[in-house]
Parts: sequence; C-alpha cells; structure tokens
Amino acid sequence: MSRILVTGAGGFIGHHLVTFLRARGHWVRGADLKHPEFTRTDADEFHICDLRRWEDCLAATRDVDEVYALAADMGGMGFISCHHAEILHNNLLINLHTIEAARVNGVSRYFYTSSACVYPEYRQTETNVTPLKEADAYPAQPQDAYGWEKLTTETLCEHYSGDYGLPTRMARFHNIYGPNGTWDGGREKAPAALCRKIARAKLTGQHEIEVWGDGEQTRSFCYIDDCVQGIVRIMESDCAEPLNLGSDRLISINDLAHLIARIAGIDIRIRHISGPMGVRGRNSDNSKLREVLGWEPTIDLEEGLATTYEWIEGEVAKTLRPAQRRRTVAA
Ligand code: NAD
Repeated sequence: MSRILVTGAGGFIGHHLVTFLRARGHWVRGADLKHPEFTRTDADEFHICDLRRWEDCLAATRDVDEVYALAADMGGMGFISCHHAEILHNNLLINLHTIEAARVNGVSRYFYTSSACVYPEYRQTETNVTPLKEADAYPAQPQDAYGWEKLTTETLCEHYSGDYGLPTRMARFHNIYGPNGTWDGGREKAPAALCRKIARAKLTGQHEIEVWGDGEQTRSFCYIDDCVQGIVRIMESDCAEPLNLGSDRLISINDLAHLIARIAGIDIRIRHISGPMGVRGRNSDNSKLREVLGWEPTIDLEEGLATTYEWIEGEVAKTLRPAQRRRTVAA
C-alpha cells in the first residue's frame, strides 16, 4: 500500500483515478479547488487548495510516496481555443510548484498528464490522418497554448528526472470520455457536448442538433476505465518518456453524433454552424504503448458511449421541468 496524492481529484479523470487507486488498497489524498461535482470522492483525505500557490503544493505533497499530477485549468475546444494566456499562466504555475514541492518533500515517483494537443498542427491537416507516434511531437508546433504548456511541462519532468533523480512518468491522453465529467457550461468536450444535445433532443422532441464546423473533423476517443488502467500501468512501468494513452479508432464528429443518436434511439438532423474545430484529424499510434506495457485500451466506443449517454441523459432530465418536457414532446 502506498500513500498517493492525486491532484485535480475534483475533476473528471482525477475523481475516477482516486476510486481506482483506493480499490487497489492505496491510501489516497485528493487535492483540488473544488470537490467532485457529481458524486462523493473516495479519497481518504481531500485538500481544497489552489495549486498555483507554492504553500498549497508543499502541504498537498507532504508525506506521500507518489504524486499523480492531473490538476489543470482546461476544457474542450470552446475553452482552449480562446483562453490562451489564462491556460498558460495557471497551468505553468500549477506544474512548476507541484513538481518542485514533490522534490522537496522526497516523493519517490511522479506522474504527469500530458495531452495529444502537443502534436504539431502540420501533421494533422487531413481527416484521414496518419496516427501520431510519440516522436512526431517535434519539431514542435502545437495549435494552442494548452499544447505548448503540456510540452513545456513534459520537458520539466524530463529534467527533474535527469537533474534530481525524481522518476517521472507521462501520458499523452487522446480525448477521454465517460460519466461524471463536465457536460455543460463551456468546458465540456465533444462526446459530452453531443450526448447533452442529443439527450435534450430526445427529451424535448426537437431532433435538430448543432455541430461546430462541417463535422468531418476526426478524432479517437478513449473510455475513462481504460484511461485509469493505463495511467497506473504507465506509472508502474520503466518508461520515462511520454506515451500516448488513447484509442486508435478514428471517427468523424458527424459519425460520432449519429452513433450517440442510435444509442439514444432517435434520428437527428445536424445543423452545421461556425465554431472552433481544432485540428482536421488526430489519431493515436499505440505501437510504443503496446511495446512498453503489452496492453492498450480495449473498451468499445459503442459500449463506453452507451454508459456515458445514459448518465448524461439522466443529468439533462434533471434540468428540464416535467411540464416543459411534456409540452414540447407533445408539440
Ligand atoms: P477536469 O477539468 O475535469 O479536471 C481538472 C481539475 O483540476 C479540475 O477539477 C479543476 O478544478 C482542477 N484545478 C484547476 N486549477 C486548479 C488549481 N489552481 N488548483 C487546484 N486544482 C485545480 O479535467 P480532466 O478531463 O479530468 O483532465 C485531467 C488532466 O488530464 C488535465 O491535466 C488535462 O489537461 C489532462 N487531459 C485531459 C484530456 C481529456 O480528454 N479529458 C485530454 C488530454 C489531457
């Protein structure tokens, strides 16, 4: 049993990771600006704190063996395409202070959550994109400040490992989705936003949904249970270099919307509107992940989306008054 700190434990992936680590018998401290929004945390101890602040990082990393650093000021394309300064400023402060506090407090292993957003724009110009290998990150040209921040912190981790002997592990997540994640309010990502729109369409009887851009942009999506498995496997591995953690099944946003509509049991019409689309195509090359771990994500998109959709439909239903639902369905 180890003593573990999970930062960002009030967020989507951090919350699930705490539950996973507790189920494996570890003692876990969570740290975040807020408690998880949708269910209680399983953490043994929870610090409400601001990890941009050095003192808060020192307190959070005290008396733990391992740190999983997930805290970040982030969101989907709608958020990261127009909050560059805020993202760079807040996340660099969080990451600089968290890893230095971990070093000062003698932490024995450190996990950092990077992103597929580190990959250069010039390799992601086609919908039928070549899957991205870890080495493709350079020469660097991420689309947004979010990607530059992740690349910078990857470099920071490499040097803390080389200069101070703090073993660091890194994963580049490719679009993680699942229940208990942000699904509304501006920071939600594409799978959650589409589940929300389709749930509203189903519950109100108005079957037209909006999609940003032409909807032909492609991505791969990885279910949260595979993600937390992968995080812990990477942490326990000998690989000090960043590894992709994602699915390698490519799908367009239009096809994703129709897939969710089939799960919801409705037909939808898509209205394309202008909005941030991100890169044209992005997929994960899992060769190195397979080589290092002998494992890769396996949960089917259909299976993961069914669970995610069911949860989001339940959340959306809570926001609609019964009379409003009946009236609109009847109309
Ligand atoms: P999330 O927004 O649900 O969780 C991040 C958490 O960090 C939030 O609860 C937030 O309150 C907390 N946080 C922000 N600023 C903080 C501060 N100053 N002090 C303390 N806590 C603070 O996001 P997530 O989807 O769970 O992502 C977790 C990590 O994975 C992040 O580092 C993110 O960049 C990375 N990532 C996620 C995805 C994805 O698809 N979800 C993809 C690539 C990378």
